[in-house]
Formats: sequence, structure tokens, C-alpha cells
Amino acid sequence: MRSYPFTAVVGSDDMALALILTTVAPEVGGVLVRGEKGTAKSTMVRALAGLLPAVSVVAGCRFSCDPAAADPTCPDGPHPDGVTGSARPARLVELPVGATEDRVIGSLHLERALTAGVTEYEPGLLAAAHRGLLYVDEVNLLHDHLVDLLLDAAAMGRSTVEREGVSVVHAARFVLVGTMNPEEGELRPQLLDRFGLTVEIAAPRDPGLRAEVVRRRLAYDADPDAFGARFDIAERATAQRIAAARAALPAVVLGDGALTKIAEICSVFEVDGMRADIVTARAAVAHAAWHGRRYVTRDDIRAAARLALPHRRRRNPFDAPGLDEELLDRILGDEEPDPPPPPPSPADEPGPDDGESLDGEAGSTDEGTNEQAPAEPEGAREDQPVSAPAGESPAGDPPSPGAAPGSVAATGKAFRPKLFTVAGTGAGAPGRRSRAITGSGRTVGATPFAGSGAALHLTATVRAAAPHQRRRGRTGPGLLVGRDDLRLAVRQGRESNLVLFCVDASGSMAARKRMEAVKTAILSLLTDAYQRRDKVGLVTFRGAAADLLLPPTSSVEAAARRLESLPAGGRTPLAEGLRCAAHTLRVERIRDPLRRPLLVVVTDGRATAGPDAVRRSQLAAAELAADGVAALVLDCETGRFRMGLAARLARHLQAEHVPIDEVAAAVLTTAVTRRPGRVA
Ligand SMILES: [Zn+2]
Repeated sequence: MRSYPFTAVVGSDDMALALILTTVAPEVGGVLVRGEKGTAKSTMVRALAGLLPAVSVVAGCRFSCDPAAADPTCPDGPHPDGVTGSARPARLVELPVGATEDRVIGSLHLERALTAGVTEYEPGLLAAAHRGLLYVDEVNLLHDHLVDLLLDAAAMGRSTVEREGVSVVHAARFVLVGTMNPEEGELRPQLLDRFGLTVEIAAPRDPGLRAEVVRRRLAYDADPDAFGARFDIAERATAQRIAAARAALPAVVLGDGALTKIAEICSVFEVDGMRADIVTARAAVAHAAWHGRRYVTRDDIRAAARLALPHRRRRNPFDAPGLDEELLDRILGDEEPDPPPPPPSPADEPGPDDGESLDGEAGSTDEGTNEQAPAEPEGAREDQPVSAPAGESPAGDPPSPGAAPGSVAATGKAFRPKLFTVAGTGAGAPGRRSRAITGSGRTVGATPFAGSGAALHLTATVRAAAPHQRRRGRTGPGLLVGRDDLRLAVRQGRESNLVLFCVDASGSMAARKRMEAVKTAILSLLTDAYQRRDKVGLVTFRGAAADLLLPPTSSVEAAARRLESLPAGGRTPLAEGLRCAAHTLRVERIRDPLRRPLLVVVTDGRATAGPDAVRRSQLAAAELAADGVAALVLDCETGRFRMGLAARLARHLQAEHVPIDEVAAAVLTTAVTRRPGRVA
């Protein structure tokens, strides 16, 4: 069955352009596409595969060596000079989020190596992606150790496999394309920086465009071949244009004026390091080549900056994405950065200088209705000044000083909090919070081989084989090792947890200053949770009831947004809050049994809602403790005369008690938490 044609995807111009630029110039460094579900992200990436120029490879080489420049370390080599090659389509290799390390970097046949003495290496996905595209859907959910493998390979252009004395090195140069839904959690900053370009994608708002998306999808599903045939001409034209741009790329001139302009833009947008300048320059050159120009123009720089800079601005994880395009245009000015070189190039784009013609390309088929609709920069600019910075309450806010029910306090600047952990040793997903048995880390023991796993514990294996040598009839110097002797290393590292906040938003907390301190402390813990790759959730209670404001999610951004608009006021149903938290944790334990929770109760402990409020809250606390939930009480009581209710609550919860002003880490090194003695 034919796959969906690249040129048939509508309403995703930025994404199409970014994919094309990195295909024209792989050194741009790949593309990250962020957007909600159902925005044709994966469809478009897969469709791109059909447009990639073919590669010539050495026959029989599993590592895709180029006959003109074979990899000297190729495990299938050395290939003789003048070896013949054959052309095959460039590959699109998909790396599943749950892939094992073996699958990614390849594996040695442990069993064959040890029992038959044969060293056999099976190439992994990194080898398969060499000279092609490596696609990771849901890249934000990729395990840490896979991210590290990917980053190493991407940085070095090769993959190194070192295991138990056998080492294999092979070339692995690929264009990295990742897609993700930011609602499901953010990407580790190191990995984010690894992508040359980023694109935000949303479903089109324009009804005409939406209808066209559906119309095409239905037509494709009804008859993929007939639908594909309608786009044959456009597909071939785009593929040829990519190939032509690739060929023309080395001759494109990046003038001094253009280079200075790029440096100026990167400097004004306060990007970290020099990577942004380099990527913008490369993308601008690729954009010029794509448009058949011989030198980089203002439009090339503009297009490149829009894609290369948004994720490189110095920002905290909760800032709005995107780039201030009005500012970009001000820096760019109206003039061309460099005078055009004397020989006018006939290949120049005949169209006006609106900087975007990809969509026109797609529309060169009979599908002619939607070319005008996709976002023109001009139209977008008009909404720009309207958007006020989120989170800052302007002067127009009701200036109620007291605890008006439902008042919303501002949030201060996040600080670095102490590290709070769950006691004992867990087995959850890798992260940076509590101690756990993990796939990487310090070796702390050995366990019998159970059919898979990579880290062999050599001493333990030898020890296991040793007693059987005579019975197995060993005569020579070699050790006779059987499958049952194999031992794998047990490693200890850190896991991520579920940090569930249970926040008192009642009247006694609502004094503006206090709520601000509370929100700032929670925001700091959320930022910390983001870095430690935790899941987070948010329960609040005020008035008569508790509310699960945010079910456990990896999106710390979503939690920060809920927190930002959290209203405060009313009575304090503390017991209801704790019960809601307990229920949430019970449900989550079924969904994600290995992830251990850390409950953070933020309150002054003054339960006031309903009869027997204090006693009921103590009962609820005791039940959580009996369930073995690790907890922490952030005590919000301030002032000279304190009732100590939060401290008492902490005792019932068997939780650590931390005054809110002691959440910040006292020193720059990570503080180690002390938890009261508990059964692990
Ligand atoms: Zn080779």
C-alpha cells in the first residue's frame, strides 16, 4: 500500500520546511516537532522517506558503507578500494520509545560468545539509520540511557559498543527527527539542544483547511493508490528539488553581512552558547539552496531563525514557546544583508520575496484550493502585541488585601529546593530522585541470566561455572561455561517518582503574601521534579471539597499552569484533601505499579470544614501512613503564636515536617533528606 504523500499534507508548512531543510543539509542537525495528538506529525515524517535521495552502498555491507568512502572501522570491512556499490533508497528508521539498549546499539550473542567461543555482533538501529533518518516518536518519553546513547552517536557520528572485552565501532551519521506531545512531558534540555530545528504544530483553525485535511484523508483511505497517483508529479518535483538543492548547497555564499545579521539576532534573543549561530547559519544556507539562490538573503535568515532559535532562548521550562517575530523583523530590518553578487543567477525563484514557496510547490497539482490559507507571516504579526505575559497580574487586578474567596496570588521566582526522596530501594523508571535498582549505575550484585539483558557480571559467571568444570570433563585451559552459569550485573541508580502535591487553598492560607510563598515553593519543587523526570499531580482543597486539579502526568508545565491560576479562600477540608490524595495514589498504583509516590501536603494544618475536622484529618493521615505512602508536610504556619497543627499532622502521616521557609536548599550541593525511621 502506498504511504501518504508528503506533498498532500496540508496546514503544516513550518514542519514541512524544517524537514526539507535538514534533508537538504543534514548538518543542520535534525528536527523536533512539538504538537498535540492528531496533527499528522508522524504521517509527515514517514512521508518524507519517499523524498530522500537514494544512497549508494557497498554490496553486502550491513553498515551501509559508501563505496566512495568506506568506513575504515566497518565491522564488515575492510572493503577493498574500488569496490562496487548499488543504490538503495535512504532509510527511515523508527526507534521505538521502549527499545532495549541491545536493539539500539546492536548486540553481541552472549550465549554464543561464551558457550561456542564465537564473537557475533548484530547491528542495531543506529547502524541501520546510518546515512538516513532516525525517527523517534514520543521522543520526550525515551528512557534516559537511550537518550545518552543517541546523543553520543549523534555527536560523534559513530556508535561504539564496548562489552566484556569485545569492542565494535561503526559509523552512524543520521538525521534525527523527533516528535512529541508537550502535554505528556518535556524533553531533557541536553536532548532538546541536540535538535537543530524545532517546530510547533497545531491542528489548523481555518474551517476550510480542516475540511481539506479530512477530504484528503478520506480519499486516501478509500483508495491509497489513486490518491497517491494524484500527487506523483508534486512528489517527484519535490524530490528533484531536494536533490538539486543538495547539489547546489556547497556553492551557496554566506556573506559577511548575513553572518553578522545572524550573530546579531542570536545575541538579542539571548541564546545559550554558539550552537544557535551555527545552526541558524547552516539552515539559512540550506534555505537559500532550496530556493535556488546562490547567496543567503534576508528571507533565508528569517526562515532559519524562526526554526533554529525558539528552543535555544535562555528560559525556564514554563515559558511560552515560540519566538517574538516582531522583534525578529526589527533586527532584520528591510534591507538585504549583502549586495547580490554580480552574476545574476537565472535559477532564482521567480516569485515575490515572501520567503515561502513550499506550499506553492505542493499545490502545483490539481489540488489548488488552499495555497492562500496557510499562515502568512503578515497575518500572524497582527495578534502579536495582544498577548500579555502570562502569570503577571497587571495593576487591574482586584486589590483585595485580605482573603477574598477565590483570589489568585502571584508566583515568585523558583529557587533550588532540597532533595526529598522516598526511603528504601525502588524499581521504578530511571530518574534522579530515589534510590532504585536500574539498568545503569553502580553494580551492586549479580542475578542469573533470564534470556535478555546486556551487562554481564563476569566474576559471578566464572564463579558459577567453576564448580562444574570436572563434571563437564574439562581437560584444557579454557573454562567450560554453560547457559545456566551466566550472571548479569544488578545495578543501583536512581528512579523517578510520582510527586503528588496536596495543597491547602483555604482562607487561612489565602493571605496574599503567604499564598505567594506557597506557590513559589511548589513551583520550585515542580521545576526540580521536571529535572528529576518525575511524574507530578495536584490535589487542592478549599471550601467544602477537595479537587483533583491535575491527574498524575509527566507534564510539569501543565502542573505549573494549574498552579498559576489556583484560587484560594474558604474553609479547610483537610480530611477530604488527604482522602482525595489517597484515592489518586491507589488508582495510580494500579496504572504504574513500580512508580513510588511521594506525597507533599502543603498546609498550616488548621482543618475547619465539617464536624470533627481535625480528628477526621488525623484519621485520613494515619490511613495514608498505613498504606506505606512516603509523605512530606510543608508547614505554612507563620507568625509568633503558632499552633503546631501541621507538625502534628506530619506525625500522623509519619511524614517529614518541613517549614515552608526551609524548602530551599541551604547550600549549593544537593541536600540529603532524613526521613523518620520507617519500614521500607
Ligand atoms: Zn562497510
